[in-house]
Amino acid sequence: PGTLYIVSTPIGNLGDFAPRAAEVLRSVDAILAEDTRHTRALCERFEIRTPLVAYHDHNEAQATPGLVRRMTDGASFALVSDAGTPLVSDPGTRLVRAAIEAGVPVVPVPGPSAVLAALAGAGLPTDRFTFFGFLPRKGGDRTRTLGELLALRHTAVLYEAPNRLAQTLADLVAAGAGERATVVARELTKQYEEFRRGTVAELAAYYHDHEPRGEIVLVLAGAPDDVLPEAALEARAAALRAEG
Ligand code: SAM
Repeated sequence: PGTLYIVSTPIGNLGDFAPRAAEVLRSVDAILAEDTRHTRALCERFEIRTPLVAYHDHNEAQATPGLVRRMTDGASFALVSDAGTPLVSDPGTRLVRAAIEAGVPVVPVPGPSAVLAALAGAGLPTDRFTFFGFLPRKGGDRTRTLGELLALRHTAVLYEAPNRLAQTLADLVAAGAGERATVVARELTKQYEEFRRGTVAELAAYYHDHEPRGEIVLVLAGAPDDVLPEAALEARAAALRAEG
């Protein structure tokens, strides 16, 4: 069979496009792109002349079997998304799984991803973290996910749209996380890159009056040790009883 490459592309700064990524995009039979227009601009800039094929949320179910068949017949493809690493809040999981099942080697070509760039600059603990992607926008799903986020003892990372940031911070304050340390990482790797730090309550007040522009990652410190969620308290009590 051929190979399925999963290729990371820049999240803003074209200088982050890796030489190996360019080499792989030149060598494959086709580039599977979330948005062919977007990827065409990158290819033109780096003189990559490989054909582009659309592969996105709306055609992945239908397109996957044919693509996998071509790879088992010997074709090699590179999957890219509009920015950063495919499969991270972006399409690709279905294709990777189908390739693995068909015995097609899957080779990542790692590079930029907003989640790791934000963590690297945030200054909050990184020994453990949970990535939430985009929060559900409303309803029970949102409430449940906020609850899960609040119970975490370690760092949480989430993606957020600029016009929803203030609301999300306000929801976190309402849920009791107002005193936690948080960092809003904006426009990473770009000209107006910014890290804004403070408590959740401070940043909620700031963004209430200043709707941000550009792309945003929100990093949130875990619950302090002295505010254990109930389940953890119960587990600790059970452990103490067992010790007798
Ligand atoms: N696959 C990408 C990655 O590896 O980071 C993420 C794709 S997701 C559809 C897009 C979201 O990622 C944006 O809404 C924003 O939250 C975050 N993001 C992407 N580029 C960013 C940047 N340069 N600065 C801050 N956040 C960014």
